[in-house]
Amino acid sequence: MPSVESIIKDTQTLGTTGQEEVLSYLEEVIVLGSFVTEVTDEVKENRFSRGKVCPHCEHDKVSRNGKFDGKQRYICKSCGRTFNDFTQSPSYNSKKDIRKWILYGKCMINGYSIRKCAEIVEISVPTSFFWRHKIIDAIRTFIGMGSVGGVVEVDETFFRESFKGNHKKSTTFTMPRKSRKRGAKGSQSNKGQRKRGISDEQVCVLCAMDRVGNIMTELICKGRMKHTDVERFFENRIDDDSIFCTDSHKSYIKFAQNTGVELKQIKRGRHKEGVYHIQHINSYHSKLKKWMDRFNGVATKYLSNYMYWFKWLQYFDTEKDTLKSKHLIVQSHTSHCYTKLRDFKIKKAIFV
Ligand SMILES: [Zn+2]
Repeated sequence: MPSVESIIKDTQTLGTTGQEEVLSYLEEVIVLGSFVTEVTDEVKENRFSRGKVCPHCEHDKVSRNGKFDGKQRYICKSCGRTFNDFTQSPSYNSKKDIRKWILYGKCMINGYSIRKCAEIVEISVPTSFFWRHKIIDAIRTFIGMGSVGGVVEVDETFFRESFKGNHKKSTTFTMPRKSRKRGAKGSQSNKGQRKRGISDEQVCVLCAMDRVGNIMTELICKGRMKHTDVERFFENRIDDDSIFCTDSHKSYIKFAQNTGVELKQIKRGRHKEGVYHIQHINSYHSKLKKWMDRFNGVATKYLSNYMYWFKWLQYFDTEKDTLKSKHLIVQSHTSHCYTKLRDFKIKKAIFV
């Protein structure tokens, strides 16, 4: 066996690229290794922060029920079913070790493609796809729609409706219109997307963010939005005395009249009226569009997940990447959310 001294000496002979490879290997082994205990402990702590609750029926009368496979098992006095700290979480029923899930989280934080994640974690491409969406489904449950208050910037953005992946194996699905080539005119990543020429083939995503960093983002309708769509989005989710900053879209006027929210509409070409502006939301949308480019167009039924994933990334923007991957796994395993494989087959776009 080589000595530590000789290994260190050898690394000195490597170029920068080689040394970086060694570093990332060690990071994976040491950091991810220590994460296993941390993740397990934190999930347990988070899940039981308000007392133990049954992940099957949410009843709070549960007791310990021995150990199984080295893990503490519990039993629910209401439904009689047993569970452990990871029941109804993305890795529930997974035959793969939690280490692989943590490594997968790291790949997601690095922004790798489904295929690259699959290669690194040594799982199949379909499994890689399911893991990604199992994790984001759970993150969506964990962070929720949220709410906003104070000075709130609001704006809508559009994504081309996509049925990607729907028609491959389905015998009943028919494309409602001619298929479009990637990157063709009107593609999802059309950066110059203006609000004129909005058709029903586009999906409207409404975003709101306040000055303390709360973000709301949801699919609200197809085509042009109406004031009722805006009202539904914000129902019971705005603090009293909030001031909304928007562009000059008419729906916001009707919305403000109906809800009593104070409205500051920033006229086209003007950037600021004192503290009232929509610069943060504009920058959020341009970052979102740029980030979405890497996915080469996502199916509309998964669009909501990508909106939540991006929102989550913004919340943890200033964290170190290694910590982010731990948070991603801990938080996705905290809420009781387990997407079964058959749920993917019947998945539909989520509109509020
Ligand atoms: Zn129960």
